[in-house]
Amino acid sequence: MTRLLFDMPPPNAIPVVGEDAAYPVGRIFCVGRNYVAHAEEMGNTVDRDAPWYFTKSAPNMCASGATVPYPPGTENYHHEVELVMALGRPVFQCDRAEGEAAIFGYGCGLDMTRRDRQQDGKDYRRPWDLGKDVENSAVLGPLTPAAKAGPLKGKRIHLSVNGEIRQDALLDEMVWSVGEIVSHLSHYYHLRPGDLIMTGTPAGVGPVVAGDHLSGGIDGLGEISLRLGAAE
Ligand code: MN
Repeated sequence: MTRLLFDMPPPNAIPVVGEDAAYPVGRIFCVGRNYVAHAEEMGNTVDRDAPWYFTKSAPNMCASGATVPYPPGTENYHHEVELVMALGRPVFQCDRAEGEAAIFGYGCGLDMTRRDRQQDGKDYRRPWDLGKDVENSAVLGPLTPAAKAGPLKGKRIHLSVNGEIRQDALLDEMVWSVGEIVSHLSHYYHLRPGDLIMTGTPAGVGPVVAGDHLSGGIDGLGEISLRLGAAE
């Protein structure tokens, strides 16, 4: 085996409800706009022809419950609470049913966003990496296996900041179903275990500051929390 010049950290992993073993995080895909009310609050409309995506680097994941510094390079750091799905088997160019069957489990996550840098990307037609692929910005709660998750319909997704509710919606509001998303994305990637998909945020996104405590969850699919410390 090739000798490496220096050590790299092992992959991040997420706890799984009812299992001793954790789920290792490979790639993190994120759906751009999947709730009409959120698209509208950002001054956008939802493209109903097809979903679209950006990515976050797996090392930029952060486990729920952590305290992380307020990130550099922004004065408008936003919360986006989202349903996260984790794949359990390889799929390529699959249909909706096969896509849904490939989902290992679900959890609650936060797609933390430098909104000002994302806006730069829109204004100057640049990529979104500085806005979205932020250190500690893919905050992930424990996964509940799909077999134990029950129907997604009717489940409430919510987020509070310092105990005050900011985002409150039903997963029913998602424009693209989980099976449709996996199917669509599988026409661009050979999807595999370790792939996570953050499925977009409902309305109510907004800024957070150092000292804030974010807490939320999805009915039956676990909770999420994050504390923001001082900038470092
Ligand atoms: Mn998002």
